[in-house]
Amino acid sequence: MNIESIESIESIESSPTIDRLPEAIAALPSHVRALVDGLFQVVATEGVIDPPTEMNDWLAKTFGSVEATLHQRIIRVMNRWTFESATFNALRSRRPGSGATQGKQADPPELRERIERTQGDDFCQPQTRTPADAFGRVRGERTITASNVAKADGWHGVAIFDQHDPLALDGALMADLLDVVSRWAERVRQQDTEARYLFTLWNCLWRAGASLVHGHAQMTLSHTMAHGRVELWRAAMERYHAATGGDYFADLRAVYTALGLATTAPETVPEDTVFGFASLTPAKEREVTLLAANQPPGNLSVLAAPLWRTLEVAMRDFGVRAFNVAMFGPPYSLPDGAGDPAWEGFPLVARFVDRGAPLAQTADIAALELFGSSVISSDPFEVARAMRQG
Ligand SMILES: [Zn+2]
Repeated sequence: MNIESIESIESIESSPTIDRLPEAIAALPSHVRALVDGLFQVVATEGVIDPPTEMNDWLAKTFGSVEATLHQRIIRVMNRWTFESATFNALRSRRPGSGATQGKQADPPELRERIERTQGDDFCQPQTRTPADAFGRVRGERTITASNVAKADGWHGVAIFDQHDPLALDGALMADLLDVVSRWAERVRQQDTEARYLFTLWNCLWRAGASLVHGHAQMTLSHTMAHGRVELWRAAMERYHAATGGDYFADLRAVYTALGLATTAPETVPEDTVFGFASLTPAKEREVTLLAANQPPGNLSVLAAPLWRTLEVAMRDFGVRAFNVAMFGPPYSLPDGAGDPAWEGFPLVARFVDRGAPLAQTADIAALELFGSSVISSDPFEVARAMRQG
């Protein structure tokens, strides 16, 4: 064994990488390993190419070395309860036109120009150029609500930020936004007690699906049922408990902590209320999930500080500009005031994903993501380390 390979083994042990996930799991104490195996199916496989020598220069230039491409390790992970699945191969981030975020580089001038060019849009004057809800508007220090013109649900609001620049974000804005969203839901429920399922969504920039540049989030408050992917998580919690007797979200927390994938350090979260992790079955790049257990549905504010920390590190260390955030949790009480036992134990959740280079021409989601598995080029272990160092 030469010195180089000894060093690489040592660095694997101190800082695991996603392509060594099976080895990281095998090194866990047996009771934690059993939890991992009960929650996730993990498959490591190798892909081999046999390139003609004429391709060598291009392969070396594109992927760093020809050798790196000849034998590629692919890690596939599936959550056995939600059936969310991801395929990891770091090499894919280096392929032409991948549209991956580029780390700590300066923003392309065109991005700044395109944001500036849209100054003076409708959201710059929300009072006169956006409709109010039937009950009026909710005003915060930095955020004001409007009623969405083209609705995705009966109650569908917009929380418009005071600044046009969608990247002008800070912790105070985050706290204000989540307070305004909760107050908006309360106002809706004063008129309509059947509206119970709150879902908050935030699309930042075009590549993340934002049709307007101006910083804003949206919220729906639905009757009768949650959105399908939220129900998928609730059903997973229920089936896991029925089959194993375990607490699904507590066991997820134990597994992510043991693997070194926690993004929150207990000392940075007040009274350990919120637990974050870099997902092994991310919807797209660098997914960070935040869970706040035992919270009432309107207490979104508990997520504000850890969500801001997540965005701050993602923007600063990974160069993330286009991103999605969703927040959801247990439903508000029924009209007679009763809780819903089916949602007992379901936490408040925030999910964040990086959508890649904001001006990339190709979509980052295609047939495999829509109908198969998420294809991921970032490393959850790297995400978790950066978030913990914050
Ligand atoms: Zn604007």
